[in-house]
Amino acid sequence: MDKDIATPVRTRAILEKYGFSFKKSLGQNFLIDTNILKKIVSFANLTENSGAIEIGPGIGALTEQLARSSKKVIAFEIDQRLLPILQDTLSPYENVKVIHKDVLEANVQMVMEEEFHGMDDIMVVANLPYYVTTPIIMKLLEEHLPIRGIVCMLQKEVADRISAKPGSKDYGSLSIAVQYYTEAETVMIVPKTVFVPQPNVDSAVIRLTKRVQPAVEVKDENFFFQVTKASFAQRRKTLLNNLTSQLPDGKQKKEEILAALSASGIDPGRRGETLSLEEFGRLADELYTYFH
Ligand code: SAM
Repeated sequence: MDKDIATPVRTRAILEKYGFSFKKSLGQNFLIDTNILKKIVSFANLTENSGAIEIGPGIGALTEQLARSSKKVIAFEIDQRLLPILQDTLSPYENVKVIHKDVLEANVQMVMEEEFHGMDDIMVVANLPYYVTTPIIMKLLEEHLPIRGIVCMLQKEVADRISAKPGSKDYGSLSIAVQYYTEAETVMIVPKTVFVPQPNVDSAVIRLTKRVQPAVEVKDENFFFQVTKASFAQRRKTLLNNLTSQLPDGKQKKEEILAALSASGIDPGRRGETLSLEEFGRLADELYTYFH
């Protein structure tokens, strides 16, 4: 087996060979610790008949571990300068394909249909570029892709928000959006020292396991998310205050909002951060008729 890419010595040699300079604007913080990479991959529970999607392979540190643990890896990389490097570092692995594309603009659904025929399951595994963590995760979930889940490295602060439970200071519309589609857990806290260059923030690995059905059944998904966003617009304000000031014509519809709160058994003086997903679901469905 080839020497791992993700050792400090080998990474430095690769970067020097190609005269590669990091682009901060692309969130380029590469992992140089093989043990951490192996752990990330182990959280994904891949088998020899799994497909893996990676976002941002960098110089291939994680890609290589994924290639060894799955049937096939498709990696989306935005930075053209990395393509010749990846071709070199990943040459021992025939089951890897790198696609030069901004993942936010890629037709991931189509790529999955073309590349992952007959595989048992598909996981997204990535050390995400931190400047676009949330849009990438939301894209993968909102497009209802046939994936089993996502295991990814991201800023600890975002991991805390994603896996937060009602009543905690980190609980907000992002927690609800992600937990609507998945079961979210923070599985590892990662020190800055395992990256080059070291990021300014602490990191964590989260595992998102797709639910068979969304966590709550609602009349209209978009309206449900609109209600949750409105409820957190100003955290110190009560639900009633946020809903009247944020929903369209909310001020004129105060009586209706009060009726919906009452019908869903929610005290109008509560704050958004205390409501469970089920309560938000009930509330959105009660409000729905007044706003459509
Ligand atoms: N996987 C490598 C590792 O763990 O060492 C690199 C991870 S680095 C944090 C993020 C990678 O994502 C970089 O290679 C960067 O060029 C790439 N990237 C940034 N924005 C991207 C985007 N919108 N679509 C695809 N790749 C992107």
